[in-house]
Amino acid sequence: MHEMSLCEGVLQVLQDNARSQGYSRVKTVWLEIGSLSGVEIEAMRFSFDLVMKGSLAAEAKLEIIRVPGQAWCMQCGKRVAVTERYDACPDCGGYQLQVTAGDELRIKELEVD
Ligand SMILES: [Zn+2]
Repeated sequence: MHEMSLCEGVLQVLQDNARSQGYSRVKTVWLEIGSLSGVEIEAMRFSFDLVMKGSLAAEAKLEIIRVPGQAWCMQCGKRVAVTERYDACPDCGGYQLQVTAGDELRIKELEVD
């Protein structure tokens, strides 16, 4: 499962930060997940619990912030909303879109002890 390795990546960051910032327990993790990132929220929650078991984030709550997809349409010369990666432009129907938001998976904020 793709989400499992994403959670392992998150744990790695938490551990690195714990060393550099001097905390020993993570209470809440806010994750920003773009709607074009292909990440399944349910799978993410499931993997998070499994991966964090026995770690500094074993008790951590996972808060997910969805980031809507956005792209730049070359033909319209403006930003448009997209819900799927290979969507056509909602305004002109063209496919010359460059995704500008909605791709992300990143830690937005942490609550630590
Ligand atoms: Zn367009």
